[in-house]
Amino acid sequence: MRIDIPKNSLKRVIIIGGGFAGLTLAKKISNKLFQVVLIDKNNYHSFPPLLYQVATADLPATSIAFPFRKIFKDRKNFFFRLAEVKEVVKDENLIKTNIGDLNYDFLVIATGSATNYFGNEGLTIRSMPMKSIREALNIRSMVLQNFEKALGIKNKRKKQSMMNYVIAGAGPTGVELAGALGEIKQNVLKKEYPELNPEMMEITLIQAGDRILPMFSKKASEKAKKYLEELGVDVQLNSRVTDYFGDYIQTHNNKDLIAHTLIWTAGVIGNPIAGIEDKVQKNNKRIMVDKHNRLINSENIFVIGDTALMINENNPRGHAMIAQVAIQQAVMLSKNLKNIVLRNPIVEFSYKDKGSMATIGKNKAVVEAGNLKLYGRVAWYVWMLVHLLALVGFNRKIKVFMEWTKNYFSSGRGVELILHPFDFGKEKKDRKDKIQN
Ligand SMILES: Cc1cc2nc3c(=O)[nH]c(=O)nc-3n(C[C@H](O)[C@H](O)[C@H](O)COP(=O)(O)OP(=O)(O)OC[C@H]3O[C@@H](n4cnc5c(N)ncnc54)[C@H](O)[C@@H]3O)c2cc1C
Repeated sequence: MRIDIPKNSLKRVIIIGGGFAGLTLAKKISNKLFQVVLIDKNNYHSFPPLLYQVATADLPATSIAFPFRKIFKDRKNFFFRLAEVKEVVKDENLIKTNIGDLNYDFLVIATGSATNYFGNEGLTIRSMPMKSIREALNIRSMVLQNFEKALGIKNKRKKQSMMNYVIAGAGPTGVELAGALGEIKQNVLKKEYPELNPEMMEITLIQAGDRILPMFSKKASEKAKKYLEELGVDVQLNSRVTDYFGDYIQTHNNKDLIAHTLIWTAGVIGNPIAGIEDKVQKNNKRIMVDKHNRLINSENIFVIGDTALMINENNPRGHAMIAQVAIQQAVMLSKNLKNIVLRNPIVEFSYKDKGSMATIGKNKAVVEAGNLKLYGRVAWYVWMLVHLLALVGFNRKIKVFMEWTKNYFSSGRGVELILHPFDFGKEKKDRKDKIQN
C-alpha cells in the first residue's frame, strides 16, 4: 500500500517527527522549493519543557499541544500524515509506515529520544516515565489516585508508600517535577485532602552525581537544592537507583526507599528507525551524522535533534539533548537543503549556547545565560517569559498565561479531575508483553 500524495516537479522532503527539530525545519522549507511531507505518530506538536505542569495538574494537556494541521493551514506544498514510520529502505529512497509506503528525495529523521532504563526490567515495567503528554497524564492520574487510595488504607507502611514519591534523576525535568510536587505537599494537600497529613507526603529526589542540575554552575545547583529543601524535598546525592520492585526502590549504596511511585527521569536514549544500521548508532542509540547533520555514508538522509549524534572536538560525546540544539540544527539544515537544490556550498553546524534555566516551585528559578546569572524570583519571571514566548501560537501563550495567573493567586491547581484513571496493572502487563516480544 502507498501513501497517496501526488508527486510534482519539486523535490520531496519527508520529515519524520514534528518535535522542535522537525517542526522548525518544516516551517522553514515548506515554500516554493520543496514538497514537504511531515509524518508524526501524533497529530500535534508538544512542548516537553512544560510536561511537568501537566503531570502535576497545573496545566491542561491542551495548553502544550498544537495540532500540525492548524500550524500549517495556509502552507502550499505541505502535507501532514498521522502515521508511525516503521522502516527506512535506503536503497529505494523509501519509508514504510503503518499506513503505507512513500518515496523521498530527501529524508530527515527527527524522531527525538526515548526513556533509557539501562536494560533494567524492574524500572522498565514499574517506574513512571515522563517523555510524552500521555505519560504526563498518567502521572497526574496516578498522583490524584494515590491520594484517594491513601485515604482508605489503614496499614501505616502501605499508606506511607502510597504517599511517597521518589524521582530519579536531578536534571531540569526531575528538579522541576520535584518542586511542583513540593508545592502540592505545602499548599494543596491540606486544602484539598484535609484528612491526609501533608507531613506524610515524602518527596525524594535521587541524583547519581554530587550535585543537582549538573549543566548549571555550582552556585545554581546549590541554590536549586536549597529551594527544593524549603519545599520539603529530600535531595539525595551520590545515590543511584539499581532496581525497583513496585513498592521498594533499591539503591547502590543501600539507602533503599519505600514508595509506590518512582518517576524515572534519569536517562534518555536515541530513537532510531529500523533500516538505519547499528554501525552508525553510538552513545545510546543516537545516529551518527557529519558536520552538516547528514547521516554517515548517505547522500540524501539527514538526522537532526535529540536522535542525531554529531561528534567533534568541542562535543566529544555529541551535543546535549535539548531544544536549542534541535532548533538550531533544523535552521542550519533548512539553509543546506536550499543550498543543495540551488547548487550552492553548504554550511557546517555550529551550536550557540543560549543558556539554561529551571524553575523550582512557585517564585523560584535559576537562569544562566553567558554572564547573566539570576536566581530566585527575578529568575522565575524570566523563566515564565521565555517559556511563554517559546510556546507555539498566540492563543496558547494567552491560555497558559491565564492558567498561571489563576494558579498563582488561588494557590491551587488547574486540573484536578481524574478523567482517565490510570490502570497501573494493565500498564505493567503491556510493558512486560512489549519487552517479551
Ligand atoms: C519532560 C521534559 C522536559 C524538557 N525540558 C527541556 C527544557 O526545559 N529545555 C530544553 O532545551 N529541553 C528540554 N527538554 C528536551 C527537549 O524537549 C528535547 O531536546 C527536544 O524535544 C528534542 O527535539 P526533537 O525534535 O529532536 O524531538 P522531539 O521533540 O521529542 O520530537 C520527536 C517527534 O517525533 C515523533 N516520532 C518519534 N518516532 C516516530 C516515528 N517512528 N514515526 C512518526 N513520528 C515519530 C514524536 O511523536 C515527536 O513528535 C525536555 C524534555 C523532556 C522530556
